[in-house]
Amino acid sequence: MNVFPVILSAPSGGGKTTIARELMKRRADVGYSVSCTTRSPRVGEVDGRDYYFLTTAEFLTRQQRGDFAESAAVHGDLYGTLRSEVARVLEKGQHVLMDIDVQGAAQFRGAFPQSVLIYVLPPSGEVLLERLRNRHTETPDTLKKRLLSALAELRAVPMYHYVVLNDDLERAVANVSRIIDAEGLRRERLGNVERDVREIIERLEKEMDDI
Ligand code: 5GP
Repeated sequence: MNVFPVILSAPSGGGKTTIARELMKRRADVGYSVSCTTRSPRVGEVDGRDYYFLTTAEFLTRQQRGDFAESAAVHGDLYGTLRSEVARVLEKGQHVLMDIDVQGAAQFRGAFPQSVLIYVLPPSGEVLLERLRNRHTETPDTLKKRLLSALAELRAVPMYHYVVLNDDLERAVANVSRIIDAEGLRRERLGNVERDVREIIERLEKEMDDI
């Protein structure tokens, strides 16, 4: 099965979660890895669907046990990708889509070098600021924290294989989907390519000998 992990990262408010949701609706061959977090559920979030919500003690126990393929502190809370989630999705024959931060992406790629890293870029600084402000009715202090982490996220863009501009949701989703299709055709991901090429060469060589 030619499936692989696909990592989406973006600064907070970059719109990657919406892209991930849309992609899942459209492609049966893409599954989502549900992360663990120590942050509290937001209104409408469901345990086991949006996140596995853990206490800090539970998170640390699982971390020590080596359950996570990557983990990181984001905005003061702990987040991590379970190895078992990644395996569950890949074993179903689906690409495993992950919405993780840049520290997590770097660690994850170390553990799964076949991963495709996609950075979702907001169309402008102005738009990003607007999204950050609209999304969180926060104190200047928390907004400052969010801005600092957005800056750190943006500085990591060179680590990514692809950048998708999120100026139009439809186009952004289509582009992520195209990336997945093209990556699936990479020579190194095609299992029998060497054998197939060898067979063709042998056939031609035989023809040469017979001429
Ligand atoms: P939120 O709390 O708003 O859902 O997510 C905050 C940040 O944590 C986002 O940048 C998101 O990508 C990141 N995040 C979510 N799950 C994980 C994870 O499993 N690992 C890491 N490293 N980051 C995560």
